[in-house]
Amino acid sequence: MMRQYELVDRVRKYNPQADEDLLNRAYVYAMKAHGTQKRASGDPYFSHPLEVAAILTDLKLDDATIVAAVLHDTIEDTGSTKEEIAQLFGSEIAALVDGLTKLKKLDLVSKRAEQAENFRKLLLAIAEDVRVLLVKLADRLHNMRTLHFVPPEKRNRIAQETLDIYAPLAGRMGMQHMREELENLSFKTLMPEAHAMISARLADLSKRNGRLIIDIEQELSQELTTRGIKAEVHGRQKAPYSVFRKMEHKSLAFEQLSDIFGFRLVVETTEDCYRVIGVVHTKWPTVPGRFKDYISTPKQNDYRSIHTTVVGPGRQRVELQVRTATMHEIADFGIAAHALYKDGRAADQETLTRESRAYRWLRRTIELLAEGDSPEEFLEHTKLELFHDQVFCFTPKGRLIALPKGATPIDFAYAVHTGLGNSAIGCKINGRIAPLLSELQNGDEVEIARAEGQVPPAAWESLVITGKARAAIRRATRDAVRQQYAGLGRQIVVRAFERAGKTFSDERLKVALPRLARQSIDDVLAAVGRGKMFSGDVVRAVHPEFKEERKPAPGPAKGEGGWFGLKKAASVVFKVPGAPTESGAIPIRGLGGDLPVRFAPNGGAVPGDRIVGILTPGEGITIFPIQSPDLTAFDDQPERWLDVRWDLDEEHREFFPARVIVNALNEPGALGTIAMVIGEAGANIDHVEFRNRSPDFRDIVLDLQVYDLKHLNGIMSELKAKPMVSKVERVNG
Ligand code: MN
Repeated sequence: MMRQYELVDRVRKYNPQADEDLLNRAYVYAMKAHGTQKRASGDPYFSHPLEVAAILTDLKLDDATIVAAVLHDTIEDTGSTKEEIAQLFGSEIAALVDGLTKLKKLDLVSKRAEQAENFRKLLLAIAEDVRVLLVKLADRLHNMRTLHFVPPEKRNRIAQETLDIYAPLAGRMGMQHMREELENLSFKTLMPEAHAMISARLADLSKRNGRLIIDIEQELSQELTTRGIKAEVHGRQKAPYSVFRKMEHKSLAFEQLSDIFGFRLVVETTEDCYRVIGVVHTKWPTVPGRFKDYISTPKQNDYRSIHTTVVGPGRQRVELQVRTATMHEIADFGIAAHALYKDGRAADQETLTRESRAYRWLRRTIELLAEGDSPEEFLEHTKLELFHDQVFCFTPKGRLIALPKGATPIDFAYAVHTGLGNSAIGCKINGRIAPLLSELQNGDEVEIARAEGQVPPAAWESLVITGKARAAIRRATRDAVRQQYAGLGRQIVVRAFERAGKTFSDERLKVALPRLARQSIDDVLAAVGRGKMFSGDVVRAVHPEFKEERKPAPGPAKGEGGWFGLKKAASVVFKVPGAPTESGAIPIRGLGGDLPVRFAPNGGAVPGDRIVGILTPGEGITIFPIQSPDLTAFDDQPERWLDVRWDLDEEHREFFPARVIVNALNEPGALGTIAMVIGEAGANIDHVEFRNRSPDFRDIVLDLQVYDLKHLNGIMSELKAKPMVSKVERVNG
């Protein structure tokens, strides 16, 4: 385990102004906090944060990052709190450790490869500071290095996650070194056989080629020295995972791979880079299509180098990368290579330009991390202000769902699955019951409670914020209304069949669908329910021989017998138009229900009235009290008569229209008295009209809004009790 002075020494080596006292205090604090905790390897737990800090000293990071690394597991794994750390080490370090604690909670969630992109965004959204990600990557690297101590089932999950998420993240942050090591460690865990095979082949190759690398190195060095170019030449074999990926990607066998060897030439100036290329291309034949100049055109993450492949000694293909020392640092260490986090402010001009360039680079890199999303705002300092317009939440099974900021559990449910949204009735956020309209936060785990046969309230449409949820709610509401129409249509069709002396069956209707030019039984029924198709047409489609006879409601004819009488008896089942039946009657709510309903225009209808519905094509159902004289107008259109029944929501009482005529003395104050009676009874007056009958009396026609028949009758009795009222009558009721 690294000693206290060793840690300080490592930091002082690259940063002489390092805060020694701070580092020492962090060391002692974390050591005490972790106490006797052990790693899976049996080592004291404290060795882990120290190793993580050591990795970061290799990247020459600032004091705050190193201290945060030493403390990174204290809040999650020991009794420490953010407040305590803020008190002892300052708010900057406390914020970094807190960020790491938040990220650590995500380790418990299983991630799948296809969600890797979302997960990386979540990491960025939560991390808030690039340095948190740097510590996290170092943490992951050390965990990967010691992964063999972890139980096998856990091992694969961690390795897969590293390969899917952390290695690419390191790569995008420009840290190719870190990326390569993470990849190879994951590869070794996940595919031990492939890894062993490729490693063995690589070892074999380097043995067979013996001094090849050294020879090429020497040959190159010599050649360049004679031309007066100072260059560091470093040759190596490709790492097992990149060889494996190449084999997979290009479907090649190991033997077919050409560029197993790579050489890096680090020179002093940009000019030298081009001179080196000139020398190399003169000496060896080049492989066409492999020359790339990333100096004149840097990669998006500021990677700069010249790449070329030549056929070198022993006809071995050799890949060359030529760059300056600065370019090299950036290529290997990426974000961490920059002076940005290093202590001691810019002392000289060179450091200054280096810093501003580093800053620009950092900003571009962070933008790059967003991949595709173009963050509008410029980033302040090291803060990651990305994805502030998004929240990332988990399903109980660990699936990651990305939503716009302000999204609710309803949006979440619809994002998971439309069926889940449609049947949602409640939710838990992080295990606690919460309203379906809560605003979700990053990292929330959301569990949706569902009930089948549920229709999402139409009001949700305006409360959700995702288009998907809105469209789905609209569709579900429309489907529900369509279902109602289909139910209505079924009623109408069944009656039409009964009237024709036939029996309705879905099977027979199905056969007749082509004749009706409809796709499904429901289509037919809904069309009839909407009044867009005549029930008689449906009967004729099923029974082409049937000829409709329009006749008034038949009763059983007297004196008829024999089989003819039986047939007549069957038609007795046919009900007199308007006779309500409880079974199969269409439930009528008020105007707020899902059905297009209106009430008899000439007198209304109220709950308690026996009612009948009249279907009006394109408009819906008009509800009449059964005794309404207006109904006679529909006597010859029996297919328009519907069985309906009241189906009221006791919780939410509604007003219904009713018309009364009050015959009252034509004297001042009469109307006032009448209005007062109605008002005190809790009813409304919608419309008033006067009709004079005689000089001293007049009829006052009142369109009222009442709850039900009992309410209405109560009002009528009270009105009758007034001395100036001679008569009260209901119209159509
Ligand atoms: Mn850790």
